[in-house]
Amino acid sequence: MAADLSRLPSVERLAQLTEQRAAGKYPRPLIVACAREIVDAARARLLRNESADVAPEALALDVASLLQRRTASTLTRAVNATGIILHTNLGRAPLSERARAAAMEAALGYATLEVEPEGGRRGSRHQHLEPLLTQVTGAEAGIAVNNNAAAVLLALSALAQGKEVIVSRGELVEIGGSFRLPEVMAQSGAVLVEVGTTNRTYSRDYERAITPNTALLLKVHRSNFVIDGFVHEASIDDLVDLGRRHGIPLMYDVGSGCLVDLRTKGLPYEPAVPEAIRAGCDLVTFSGDKLLGGPQAGVIVGRGRYLERIRSHPLARAVRMDKLDIGALAATLQDYLDPERAWQTVPVLKMLAASPEELRASAERMRQSLAGRLPAGWQSEVIATTAEVGGGSLPEAHLPSFALAIRTPSSPDRLETALRTHTPPIFARISQNTVLLDVRTLLPGDDATILEALGGIASKL
Ligand SMILES: *Cc1c(COP(=O)(O)O)cnc(C)c1O
Repeated sequence: MAADLSRLPSVERLAQLTEQRAAGKYPRPLIVACAREIVDAARARLLRNESADVAPEALALDVASLLQRRTASTLTRAVNATGIILHTNLGRAPLSERARAAAMEAALGYATLEVEPEGGRRGSRHQHLEPLLTQVTGAEAGIAVNNNAAAVLLALSALAQGKEVIVSRGELVEIGGSFRLPEVMAQSGAVLVEVGTTNRTYSRDYERAITPNTALLLKVHRSNFVIDGFVHEASIDDLVDLGRRHGIPLMYDVGSGCLVDLRTKGLPYEPAVPEAIRAGCDLVTFSGDKLLGGPQAGVIVGRGRYLERIRSHPLARAVRMDKLDIGALAATLQDYLDPERAWQTVPVLKMLAASPEELRASAERMRQSLAGRLPAGWQSEVIATTAEVGGGSLPEAHLPSFALAIRTPSSPDRLETALRTHTPPIFARISQNTVLLDVRTLLPGDDATILEALGGIASKL
């Protein structure tokens, strides 16, 4: 042990060695600190009579990997080959070209975030989005905040604090990541008044629950589940009528922020924001990064007098958006000015609308480029799969898709792990001992990334 202790390199020596390898990558004080940690750890092991590598080269490698762990950003680009379009763990919606450019533009330097260039006066960051929000939804007014959970919390806080909000028992939803309606309601200071039953709620149930203290009728879209069988819910028309007769606003949390009619592409019905506004809802809330296909955001559109109160509530400041996301959301809304073109320019819509034939063709192209590149014992084929919308939207939509299916002589887990730990990480799924790379969720260039990764992995696995 004593001999090993005396062979331990000095911190200074180890730092120098590391610096030579990592040329200019890390500041010197950080290298020295990490070198000290590694030397201390090795010395402690030796003093406990445990074995420790004392070769300077080996220790320098430990220092380099410690530096990497301490400083690397763990947020990196990833390839989504899962077939789940709005994959919440992979960041939901990929942005359109226009939205990416707008975020970049806002990031480049200063921006007209809260100033009006013409008059040189102070402006509001909310002004950038309101004209576009009203244009694409048909509402009188609108505001966007950090996400839809914040939008609902803000609207309830501004309009119903200390007052009653009537909701159907069939709509007390939980959305992944701990958005639970009763808890959001409690947080806002509004009093939840549940009406109806889990499966059946009528407009008269809401009407009976109205008191002088009722501030809001709230309808919530059951985004991520369906109830089927002996069911009834009050229609939007009935609730609009009820609200008008009693002078109580109706708010509809539609969740996914769909601005187009999905049925035109053979997809299931999903309540669209313009439709809810046309039907007479006073307020509609939705996410920016679900079916809208934009950045993380929560939008509230509706009548000007309610938006006025929402905008001036103190929480509006706490949940405001930053300039990059405002730029990206504005650009995404611009994509929708021509809804037919949005099916081409907004990646989420394009993935939703992709035809099985084009998907089969692109999976087939990948299989052909792979031919001859896989070692003996590996097999690749194109197989039919079912893709999903994800993100807690359209739980019943099963989208016919195709995948490049890879079978290896060893377990599929090893290939799946190798893909996941590749740079950039590639997320696939395993079914029946086969690794499936679904092409519906691939973005331009992802196919080349996958082929290159598979070539490298196959030669090592
Ligand atoms: C997704 C969803 C939310 C939460 O939206 P985030 O943007 O994820 O905060 C709230 N309500 C409904 C109905 C939803 O579908």
